[in-house]
Amino acid sequence: MRAAVRIRVVKSWVEISEEQLLVNYAALDRVAGEDVAVLAVIKADAYGHGAKVCAPVLARAGVEWLGVTDAEEGVAVRASLTAAESQPKILVMSGLLEEDAETIVRHGLTPVVWTRQQMEWLAEAVARLNAEPLAVHLEIDTGMARQGVVPGEELRELLTWLAAKPSLRLEGVMTHFASSEVADSPLTLKQRERFEQAMAAVAASGLRPVWVHAGNSSTVDNSAVSERDRGSLVWLRAVAAGAGARAMVRTGIALYGYCLPVEGGEAMVEPALRPVMAWKTRVIGVREVEAGDTVGYNAIFTAQRPMRLALLPVGYADGLRRELSGSDTASGGWVMIGGQRAMIVGRVSMNLTIVDVTKIAGVSVGDEAVLLGDGVTADDHARLAHTIAYEIVCGMRVESRLV
Ligand SMILES: *Cc1c(COP(=O)(O)O)cnc(C)c1O
Repeated sequence: MRAAVRIRVVKSWVEISEEQLLVNYAALDRVAGEDVAVLAVIKADAYGHGAKVCAPVLARAGVEWLGVTDAEEGVAVRASLTAAESQPKILVMSGLLEEDAETIVRHGLTPVVWTRQQMEWLAEAVARLNAEPLAVHLEIDTGMARQGVVPGEELRELLTWLAAKPSLRLEGVMTHFASSEVADSPLTLKQRERFEQAMAAVAASGLRPVWVHAGNSSTVDNSAVSERDRGSLVWLRAVAAGAGARAMVRTGIALYGYCLPVEGGEAMVEPALRPVMAWKTRVIGVREVEAGDTVGYNAIFTAQRPMRLALLPVGYADGLRRELSGSDTASGGWVMIGGQRAMIVGRVSMNLTIVDVTKIAGVSVGDEAVLLGDGVTADDHARLAHTIAYEIVCGMRVESRLV
């Protein structure tokens, strides 16, 4: 374990454990197996963990691919890797507009495409910049109705057009599953079938992709082979092998130590995962209140006995969910101070939060409080905020540092 860097702080800070990020990546890589590459998704600023911080760590670990949302993120990630020995490819996963095409070509990004218009913009940019043919990955819509071309006539036309376009090269074919955390999901089976149809059309077009990819963290987690289902990884390997291509999964949340529970099956990777992010702050005030005193906006919490309260300089503006407020009728979230739980009392405010330290001896101004980390996870926050850990970590608006 590397020692934490001592940081001067005003409000709060996020520590990213390089060691844990590498452990989680290794766990995914092991379950995926040697013949399935693991693309590391670092979109949304690495799910709130800081893409500038995480991308170089993953590049040093040897990832071949990083996944971002748009061209702008791709440029920032590329810039963070200037000193890296190996340069992973960067997949721009969520579409593009006309003005992104030149950026993609100039910065050596690899776009996911699914319309003729997107490909025309890119082909024009390649021509304008007199660049090498651009590798593109074609997304097949197999059931998300979000991105991707639907198998059938539309796909065949697109492939015919692409095959005749020397400035673009079909490097990858991909799809995305809607319910990858559900074991034996009939929808996943239907999506696989549609993808196989699409791969047959690709083969018929004469195009030979190098990569075939599908699925996310839960695809790897939910890859146990059952009597009814051979699992998406086994399926993906077979489809890729059939196309003479390499197989890949695109994992995000599990890299950061979280994963949706597998529904109706065994979790293959989740038990090995630990959170990468720790969010910490310091106590900026301590005060005593009397029985009957109310705390915070709208007085939703009333002290039932004399209490000692600590004030923390964080709130919903930083990503601490307001649903964690503690009232007279429902207890809310907590932070850890000195290894003990300090319950949030009253409403979480924009930049301030009050916690109960009555039973924690000797808390004083300057003491560290853990908002996320040992003893309190993004899953805890998600449960209270009626959402998923994805939204909690992505909602972090605090600068990250590697420890
Ligand atoms: C975000 C994303 C992923 C990663 O999903 P996780 O559930 O975080 O592993 C994979 N593929 C695509 C296309 C995505 O947009």
